[in-house]
Amino acid sequence: MTIREKNYWLETVTTPVPASSRQELPDSVDVAVVGGGYCGLSAARTLAKRGVSVAVLEAETLGWGASSRNGGMVLTGLKLPAPTVIKRYGIETVRRMYAASLETIDCVAQIVREEKIDCNFSRCGHLEVACKQAHFDGYEETAALTQREFHHELRIIPKSELHAEIGSDIYFGGMVDEASAGLNPARYVIGLAHAAQRAGACLFDHTRVTSVEPETKNGARKFRVRTSRGTLTAREVILASGAYTTEATPALRKKIIPIGSYIIATEVLPGDLAHELSPRGRMIYDSKHFLYYYRLTPDNRMLFGGRAAFFPETENTVRQSAEILRRGMISVYPQLRDTKVEFVWGGTLDFTLDVMPHAGKLDGMYFAAGFAGHGVAAATWFGAKLAGLTCGEPNDIPFDGIKFPAAPLGLRSGNTWALPLAGAYYKILDWLT
Ligand SMILES: Cc1cc2nc3c(=O)[nH]c(=O)nc-3n(C[C@H](O)[C@H](O)[C@H](O)COP(=O)(O)OP(=O)(O)OC[C@H]3O[C@@H](n4cnc5c(N)ncnc54)[C@H](O)[C@@H]3O)c2cc1C
Repeated sequence: MTIREKNYWLETVTTPVPASSRQELPDSVDVAVVGGGYCGLSAARTLAKRGVSVAVLEAETLGWGASSRNGGMVLTGLKLPAPTVIKRYGIETVRRMYAASLETIDCVAQIVREEKIDCNFSRCGHLEVACKQAHFDGYEETAALTQREFHHELRIIPKSELHAEIGSDIYFGGMVDEASAGLNPARYVIGLAHAAQRAGACLFDHTRVTSVEPETKNGARKFRVRTSRGTLTAREVILASGAYTTEATPALRKKIIPIGSYIIATEVLPGDLAHELSPRGRMIYDSKHFLYYYRLTPDNRMLFGGRAAFFPETENTVRQSAEILRRGMISVYPQLRDTKVEFVWGGTLDFTLDVMPHAGKLDGMYFAAGFAGHGVAAATWFGAKLAGLTCGEPNDIPFDGIKFPAAPLGLRSGNTWALPLAGAYYKILDWLT
């Protein structure tokens, strides 16, 4: 069979993606949301449930961005190691950040339960595997710090016991977090869209926002939002456009580093082989900067992802990634040498220069971005939080107010010529550390 350059998750969807709620844009709404992924749809669901009029404006189909393409890992913790973050922001702030990261998982669990979203959500836990002895040695310290400062348990798995977690011999040990979960990302985002629509949010697909301008009428401040489908005014605007943020909102765009990530999915594996590869069905990733992440799908395919190319996805990068990732997968699991790869696809992650998520206001508009590989849970949570802020709730987001550096030229959206240099830097770092 030839490899299909297609997102496997979309093949498993049983409910159609909701189409636009109606033909015409309303003249005005309380809140306009730019982007129909987890962040935008979660914000819209929360607002609509409070009786706030809200329109989600999505340039493509709902869920088209990273939200339908990812690995479906619902992860605890922050992308950066805790000691780095503590050094930067101080222990009190980081305690709140870590608590928020645990809350994000509960937030997804609650939405899935309340909205009865059929997306294979399961608290299967995640396993981080150490690519070097030094990485494994660091796990002891991480687990002790996480227990002491955040009252959260991480379990160390020595190499001698690793086979109970993973059918691979190449790692030096692992660390398990039982609180993480897995789901089918496309089913989840479509379920979220239906939930927002049921609650009363107006969803508009194929509606690209081209500019947002503040205006004052009769003393009241509003935003004029121009789109490919017409213009509307909104009291507040939420930017939930992630890695796909365009020049329509330049202040946010210059902060985002869009980085490509790619995934392959194999043919369905025999049950005993699937069990040997991942006996506990964990979400797995390794300890490198240029990391691999992988998991079994509910129908027992090996889904294997990584930064095979740093550039955002194009036909070429997707095609090249298939072989690069297949080689990576076989280096972890030689058992899959003769297994067919059936799907390959890519998507773009929203990184920031300091590798932290950020939220707050830019040019008077609410925004959240920088979820990197933690966006399934984080984007959902941030969306709900931003909705609260537009309703006047107190701001308890620990990621608001921290310094938010702009991306250097060459790494910014629309101007990413330096991405391969960043990729080379991280490859060298992986080799050295
Ligand atoms: C291959 C891959 C694997 C990943 N794996 C994981 C994982 O396992 N676990 C995890 O937690 N995270 C993972 N992530 C990250 C996660 O998917 C994202 O952080 C998350 O989906 C971001 O959600 P979002 O709503 O902010 O953005 P998106 O889902 O990207 O949605 C943004 C939307 O905004 C729209 N948009 C942009 N500009 C405009 C405009 N001007 N007008 C109208 N619409 C606009 C876009 O069309 C897009 O649909 C992965 C990402 C990728 C690409």
